[in-house]
Amino acid sequence: MTNIVLFGPPGAGKGTQATFLKESFGLVHISTGDVFRFNIKNATDLGKLAQTYMDAGNLVPDQVTIDMLSAEVFKNRDSKGFIFDGFPRTVAQAKALDVLLEQFNTSITAMVALEVPDELLLERLLDRGKTSGRPDDANAEVIQNRITAYYTNTAILKNYYESQEKYFGVDGVGDIDIITNRLKELINSF
Ligand code: AMP
Repeated sequence: MTNIVLFGPPGAGKGTQATFLKESFGLVHISTGDVFRFNIKNATDLGKLAQTYMDAGNLVPDQVTIDMLSAEVFKNRDSKGFIFDGFPRTVAQAKALDVLLEQFNTSITAMVALEVPDELLLERLLDRGKTSGRPDDANAEVIQNRITAYYTNTAILKNYYESQEKYFGVDGVGDIDIITNRLKELINSF
């Protein structure tokens, strides 16, 4: 299996790129944010629980997120592999992911990080908010909170994967198709 953690701050372009990569490599794309939004839309218990955190731009608690992700992986256990988008976001989640994949006799192939400067993120997210219909994209304060949550809890994961020699940074600035090609070239090298 090929299991990629697509990494980067909010607005780095993970969702956009994951859509192209899953097609090219035949991988299952799991976006924890998308699964939460689906549950909010359908007013499930999970959705109700996640919504307060998401609306404020805070992380949903680890155990809730890990349980949900585990169920998604289990459903697709016969696939060629996964693109994890928006997961893991904490060290506890990264450790849980390692344990989970071990149960399926596989492991993380690489963390592929889209590197984008902060100034561009705020601009991209506010722009996306005009069309995405996502309440957490429409408010500058909530966006700032998401970027802060990224630097407080998530950015450290670079060290987690670097220490296993699995971290690969990619320049996330430029035209979408050029960035896709950079990512494809890298993933083909694994
Ligand atoms: P995203 O679509 O990845 O930008 O995620 C939107 C929101 O969903 C985040 O701001 C969090 O509130 C929540 N979320 C998504 N993935 C996770 C995760 N791995 N851990 C905790 N919260 C998450």
